[in-house]
Amino acid sequence: MDWTDIWTLAEYQQGKLRPVSFELLTRGRALADARGCRLCSVVLGDDIAETELRELLARGADCVYAVDHPALARFLVEPYAKALRYLIETYQPEVLIAAATTTGRTVMPYLSMQVHTGLTADCTGLEIDPETGNLLQTRPAIGGNIMATIKTPTARPQMATVRPKSTPPAPRDEARLKAGAGEIVYVDVPTVLLTARMRYERFIPDETQEVMIEDAEVIVAGGRGMKRAENFQLLADLANVLGGSVGATRAAVDRGWQAYPRQIGLSGKTIASNLYIACGISGAIQHLAGMQTAEHIIAINTDPDAPIFQVADLGIVGDVFEILPAVLEKLKEAL
Ligand code: FAD
Repeated sequence: MDWTDIWTLAEYQQGKLRPVSFELLTRGRALADARGCRLCSVVLGDDIAETELRELLARGADCVYAVDHPALARFLVEPYAKALRYLIETYQPEVLIAAATTTGRTVMPYLSMQVHTGLTADCTGLEIDPETGNLLQTRPAIGGNIMATIKTPTARPQMATVRPKSTPPAPRDEARLKAGAGEIVYVDVPTVLLTARMRYERFIPDETQEVMIEDAEVIVAGGRGMKRAENFQLLADLANVLGGSVGATRAAVDRGWQAYPRQIGLSGKTIASNLYIACGISGAIQHLAGMQTAEHIIAINTDPDAPIFQVADLGIVGDVFEILPAVLEKLKEAL
């Protein structure tokens, strides 16, 4: 059998698909169209709701492979990897992509070792090479100073993880369901394969992760130009008025002005907010890697040559400590 089809690994938790599963469908659809093959999604879980599987069909999957087993109730790397290995060996997908989430970052390296293939982590771009049909996997390398394109020309499947929020979710198309598009295939993976040497005990939420800036529609972010921790209150005030959240550069986080969950960039989070207001941020390439995906970007910086202005839709050359209080005052009057 030939290696064919593009696969995405959907993430199913507590009876729901995580939204990143639909972002993977956007990536996968472009690849499947370029290869002229099917787009398939894999869902692993226990007592999986069929409505969720159908959601993947509505958003463009041609086929959903579901493995429904009590051993897959919660994410454990061994049974997840073994189930995926079984699916790969049975159906031979050409490409398997997953999200660069805790699940994807844990299971994909383990799996790639098991099936003896390569893996490119944290890709920002995925394309099909028109000449060879190989997957071109692009990601920042050498501290984000270059973009490296990596191929897996001899082994299959070609595997990659993709940063969450680096692409919009595939839109829902109810007409696909009405037309009966796509199929759901329940796969029985032998129970003997789903054993684990680890046991799930309990979930302890990380109290420092209270901020979900990756889900915010408005982000007011500050950098070294904010000068000190207390000045971030100005950003919090603006974020409050706009119903948004505060973000930060690594320079600000390293100085202890903001907590790490608020860091945006190569070694922090990728955001896809509607509005991003960069205050006292130079626009280093590692920072841009996490915020260029914002829909609208406003930058405030005293240096007219700051690189952040190259990506900004609206640039204000000036002192944040003069501009922000004035903006706040006007906004409060208007709202
Ligand atoms: P600076 O570059 O120092 O810029 C401060 C800016 O503030 C300047 O442009 C200045 O003109 C302006 N300014 C000063 N005073 C005012 C004022 N009163 N009003 C208005 N503007 C003012 N960085 C990240 O952000 N996220 C990451 O995830 C990340 N990952 C990294 C990973 C690696 C491997 C490496 C090597 C680096 C990484 N960095 C990351 C660091 C990155 O290279 C930059 O050092 C960092 O983004 C700079 O932060 P900054 O813009 O706050 O500071």
